[in-house]
Amino acid sequence: MNLPFINRVFAQIFFLVLLTACQSLAQASYSKIPLDKLESAFEQYKEPAITHRRFKHADLQPLIQKHSAAFRVEKLGESVDGRSVSSMDWGKGKTKVMLWSQMHGNESTATMALFDLFNFLEGKGDGFDDLRTLLHTQLNLKFIPMINPDGAEAFKRRNSLDIDLNRDAIAQISPEAVILKSARDSFEPDFGFNLHDQQIYYNVVNTPKQATISVLAPAYNLETEINEVRGNAMKTIVGMNEVLQQLIPGQVGKYDDAFEPRAFGDNIQKWGTSTILIESGGYVGDPEKQFIRKLNFLIILNALHQIATKGYEQYTTEQYFSIPDNGSQLMDLIINEMQVKVKDKLYPIDIAIRRRESEANGAYYMAGSVEDLGDMQVFFAFETLDATGLVYTSGKVYPTAFESVKDISEDKALELLRQGFLAVKVKTGEARQLHELPVLVLKTTEKFSGGWMTGSSPNFFLAKDGKLKYAVVNGYLIDLENPKKQEFKNRIL
Ligand SMILES: [Zn+2]
Repeated sequence: MNLPFINRVFAQIFFLVLLTACQSLAQASYSKIPLDKLESAFEQYKEPAITHRRFKHADLQPLIQKHSAAFRVEKLGESVDGRSVSSMDWGKGKTKVMLWSQMHGNESTATMALFDLFNFLEGKGDGFDDLRTLLHTQLNLKFIPMINPDGAEAFKRRNSLDIDLNRDAIAQISPEAVILKSARDSFEPDFGFNLHDQQIYYNVVNTPKQATISVLAPAYNLETEINEVRGNAMKTIVGMNEVLQQLIPGQVGKYDDAFEPRAFGDNIQKWGTSTILIESGGYVGDPEKQFIRKLNFLIILNALHQIATKGYEQYTTEQYFSIPDNGSQLMDLIINEMQVKVKDKLYPIDIAIRRRESEANGAYYMAGSVEDLGDMQVFFAFETLDATGLVYTSGKVYPTAFESVKDISEDKALELLRQGFLAVKVKTGEARQLHELPVLVLKTTEKFSGGWMTGSSPNFFLAKDGKLKYAVVNGYLIDLENPKKQEFKNRIL
């Protein structure tokens, strides 16, 4: 045997051993933060000044000031209505990461988590100092919380020009879009986090599980190709999903990656930043999204750690594609095989109902609507009723007006429902005033609309052999014999 050959073999073995050692070292440092530690960090650093998801621009200003010593705070510009948009920078590392939230004004979950994260990054002496030092030396972070403060003020999606900022990345008609684009251009981040909320009706496709978090590494072209930039975003998402699966198994969906040429995420990916979209959906029992806020905190911190250690390199794009797709198959209520009489003939109809959140006088109520009907087997619902043998029956208006909603108790409302009255009139009270009664309350008209066809307000009864069994009021199902405790968010019509 010749010696050079043996040397070469040894060199190769040595190299392989070294490589394996490096890989396991990287993995060891990547998997260093156990979930319970991450969770305890959240509990410790959760920003107490933010307690619900309808906070405003003014609420954030003192919180930004609070961090102005530890962060480099810079006013980037102003919204249409003159509200400031600021960036907060932290860290002195080579890898640049930009995180922006709430470009849709009513999508505030991640903004809450960013302020929790600011508290965490500013913390000390709590067992996380090594992690902080790692992040501080490896990363240069730029946070832009609440890019659409005017939309947040009205808690609506669009800005004050009624433009969807996520369709304004190219034309940049809106000052808020100009701010985001110039921040990207001057900073040139390696990684970007595009932080949104999605409707609560998204599910993990073909399952009844709500998509509490959805993710996407947006496409940068119509062919939805994968380059290194997009690939790194995909791999990072795989690591984030590992964290999520421990807390919300089966409740993470992957968004459709059709290229949208006007969207920020798609273009920022195209301009060379590995871009990750996080969409916060719904979670049963968490209407103010405080648990989902925690999930955002955990996965953003996880992702920053992955980026600082290049931990994402252990994952593959195939693993990203194995995350199931998002669906939009969730309803609030599905009533199966309700008998509807049309021209003296009974038809068994499944009816699918959503109660969408709407705003009135600074508070919110639910507006029920029939979304679809017929064969509803491809949908899932938070509540399902088998109405076999039950017949659709219209309701009546109670003939005597009450003085105000205060004169009607919940028991009284139920009693009226049992007598076939679906609506009551009140003499005083504002139209659109909120109430929590399980009955329709009328002010402006003596009629109410109700029906079973698509787009109708779901107000009706279900009867068996002429006896009323269930009432459906503004899309809420009420069992007239055994009414369960539920919260009604209705308004005077
Ligand atoms: Zn959005």
